[in-house]
Amino acid sequence: MAKSLPKQLISERVKNFFEVGLGFSEEEARKEAQRCLQCKNPACVKGCPVEIDIPAFIKLINEGKQKEALEKIKEKNNLPAVCGRVCPQEDQCEALCVLNKKKAPINIGALERYASETGVSLAGLAVNRRQATGDRRQIKVAVVGSGPAGLTCAADLAKMGYQATLFESLHVAGGVLVYGIPEFRLPKNIVQNEVDYIASLGVSIHTDALIGSTYSIEDLFKDGFKAIFVATGAGLPQFLGIPGENLDRVYSANEFLTRINLMKAYKFPEYSTPVNIGDKVAVIGGGNVALDSSRVALRLGKEVTLVYRRSEKEMPGRFEEIENAKEEGVKFNFLTQPVRILGDKDGFVNGLECVRMELGEVDDSGRRKPHEIKGSSFILNVDTVIIAIGQNPNPLLTRLTQGLKTNSNGTIRVDDHLMTSIPGVFAGGDIITGADTVIKAMGAGKKAAVEMDKYVKAVIQDLKG
Ligand code: FAD
Ligand code: SF4
Repeated sequence: MAKSLPKQLISERVKNFFEVGLGFSEEEARKEAQRCLQCKNPACVKGCPVEIDIPAFIKLINEGKQKEALEKIKEKNNLPAVCGRVCPQEDQCEALCVLNKKKAPINIGALERYASETGVSLAGLAVNRRQATGDRRQIKVAVVGSGPAGLTCAADLAKMGYQATLFESLHVAGGVLVYGIPEFRLPKNIVQNEVDYIASLGVSIHTDALIGSTYSIEDLFKDGFKAIFVATGAGLPQFLGIPGENLDRVYSANEFLTRINLMKAYKFPEYSTPVNIGDKVAVIGGGNVALDSSRVALRLGKEVTLVYRRSEKEMPGRFEEIENAKEEGVKFNFLTQPVRILGDKDGFVNGLECVRMELGEVDDSGRRKPHEIKGSSFILNVDTVIIAIGQNPNPLLTRLTQGLKTNSNGTIRVDDHLMTSIPGVFAGGDIITGADTVIKAMGAGKKAAVEMDKYVKAVIQDLKG
């Protein structure tokens, strides 16, 4: 595990929504960059789904060439300020760094964040921006959904010279980066800067456009778009299916975080979106979404208990965020499964009945399966429940588009080229994998751009012939 960054003081940060990790100073960044061995055959690059030339950008930081370092990163990654903050580097590039042998891998994420901040302040949006040239300039391509998959695909298509248009159903672009991940992990202005950069490449961004309803896929083809990338994500919350889920003050994490982030409920009454929660909050789940919900509720001044059915070792959330949540005072109730939400006579939550679990054999997910301990039932004294046990693929577009084939879990079916059952329609990101990570969604966006380019060229060749 790489050494963690300096952070805001715990006593301060639990009272505000400012960013927790403070980022490297120039001196710290150069010191960290000097530790890199500049391996001839760098393992870290193989761990990066978009294959950033990691040693090269680290070398440039060491030489004090921040703008060039950012240019190097942007050859492969259109959202470095985002990835530097939220990528699970400990499972990807950093996990493969040879310095793990000495238990001191390079903090690649922090260096990426450093390069993105200093590089942009030196060069603004001009870093690695190329204007559209060549024979693709008249060709229109569409991208549906503006999360990391859609943003990446649109940016790469624009860099290839296409007229790329991005359609987003919400009023702001960014997907989970803006409506899910809280301000204290990923400030909204950082995401907006990345979106502005992508717009500056020539991508036209249409918000409030729900594809399948405002326009259909057929409408887009009729309007002259030659290929379409669907990146509509996994925004449909899962529920536990236990009694009491319809009570007042039971939230899906999705609704809770959207109210907080996108509608700025945390600034109530300055912003008028209320978020009606009590004083004692149970958050159910063990991933990043559960950790984010817990830490938001904590910052609203609530007592927060995270309820997870496995042990800490199996938690899918990022290690750094588990540590942050612990430091901030989130209580953890491991090996605990909710079985019923209790309500008062007015229909408000007034307790959560749970049972204790023990771990048995390893299941399909590679983790030990939890089993109920008979007679272990107990009541948690809470007045609000936030459910963060996972999200399913967004069903709107798939339900409204004839001929777009899906799998039994609702993900869109694609071939090896990310093409769906409709010729010219490609898909990638969480909508084909189910809820996953930012960088994997970006990897899919990059691959889709290459495949769409090949497809469009082949179609145009056919037309000419
Ligand atoms: P999304 O980001 O979901 O974007 C899809 C977009 O499509 C949305 O903006 C949606 O409004 C839009 N859309 C949907 N339907 C339509 C339609 N019909 N027409 C037009 N637009 C439409 N991953 C990490 O790597 N690290 C983390 O720390 C991390 N933390 C997370 C915290 C939370 C709270 C959540 C919810 C997820 C987190 N993830 C994290 C997961 C990561 O954010 C997702 O894997 C990633 O955002 C998926 O990208 P995507 O582009 O496929 O979809
Ligand atoms: Fe540097 Fe580690 Fe990558 Fe080697 S594996 S180039 S030491 S970051």
